[in-house]
Amino acid sequence: MIYADAASTTRLSQTALEKAFPFLRDSFGNPSSRHSLGVAAKRALEEARALIAESIGAEPEEIVFTSGASEANAWIISNVGGGKTDAETRRVGVGRVVASAIEHPSVRKMCEALKRRNVGVEYLPVDRDGIVSVDALKTTLAAARKGNVNLSTIMFANNEIGAIQPIEEIGALLRTFDVPFHTDATQAVGHIPLDVRNLNVDFLTASAHKFNGPKGMGFLFCRRGVAVLPILEGGGQERGLRAGTENVAGAVATAYALAENVANLAETTVKTRRITTEIVERLQTALPQGAFTVVGDEARRLPGTINLVFKDVRGDALVQILDLKGVCASTGSACSSGKTEPSPTALALGFSPEAAKSSVRLSFDRDNSPSDAAVVAEALAFAYRKITAAQRRQR
Ligand code: PMP
Repeated sequence: MIYADAASTTRLSQTALEKAFPFLRDSFGNPSSRHSLGVAAKRALEEARALIAESIGAEPEEIVFTSGASEANAWIISNVGGGKTDAETRRVGVGRVVASAIEHPSVRKMCEALKRRNVGVEYLPVDRDGIVSVDALKTTLAAARKGNVNLSTIMFANNEIGAIQPIEEIGALLRTFDVPFHTDATQAVGHIPLDVRNLNVDFLTASAHKFNGPKGMGFLFCRRGVAVLPILEGGGQERGLRAGTENVAGAVATAYALAENVANLAETTVKTRRITTEIVERLQTALPQGAFTVVGDEARRLPGTINLVFKDVRGDALVQILDLKGVCASTGSACSSGKTEPSPTALALGFSPEAAKSSVRLSFDRDNSPSDAAVVAEALAFAYRKITAAQRRQR
């Protein structure tokens, strides 16, 4: 089997598994306990926090563990409204949120929920490569009343097409307008170089299972001095921001997985970029001209993610044949698969609803081998020929 779906999830790192294992069994203490088992758990938790902080250029106290990116995204977006009750928010219509038109559903649906609470939400358009227009953002900010934009949330790298946004530039602009900036960096952390000291972001979310960590773990970077309301009240864990006994093993695994990915980043980037480039080259040779287009600009895309839009061939049909040939891939993104509606991301890029249903996403990480390119390209060419031959017979 060849796994070409790393943007959906990745395999747990062996190092992470080994480092975490003791905290599931023998070293099972509660980090809040004062006895030696508790102290050992607390030490491991704080070492994990420090390792994560170091991996992204943050301070340990700026990292809050969460259950993943969905939770962290929802937390920050639902903070808009400044802690006012729903009734108050509905009455006064608190502020505005500016997001990109291609956010992951965990951001977009939270923005839609804000709209229902009378918070204005503006979605910034993207170009054909999926890049947010900084000029459109500038126009929006200039038109808004000062202090009227409560949050901007713009993802770092897109999950369906891999487009990387100019986060540093966007952050610098938002700073001049004094607008808090959140970025969903789920597809970026552990996959491209990233240092929050240079990014002008206030909040950044990440999910461990996207960088060879465990599922159900993630973290929020929350810049020191930036106010945020707690997501869970209770025992005061995570500096009072997220109550609940900590997932020590999960935190340890997350930290070691991230550190390992960051240490191998240069090597992985060369390998995955070569795989995606080779697949495109092989398909260009194997398939008729115009059979497919590659979405986005290679220079502004994640090295390991490509999205191919096929002419008149459904993505779900291709993915099904790929699976029979032992290749795991996705249409658009796994989060929206199973539904037949075209993804809002593809529509925002200017694709017709039909073209939007004709895409296959291939994504690779450090577990892939360079030889996977030939196998995936051959399987995809086979699937395309099989479907188009059947279409010809039906005509
Ligand atoms: N944001 C992006 C960009 C993602 O790709 C994903 C996962 N598909 C999420 C958020 C949600 O992550 P999780 O499932 O870990 O909460």
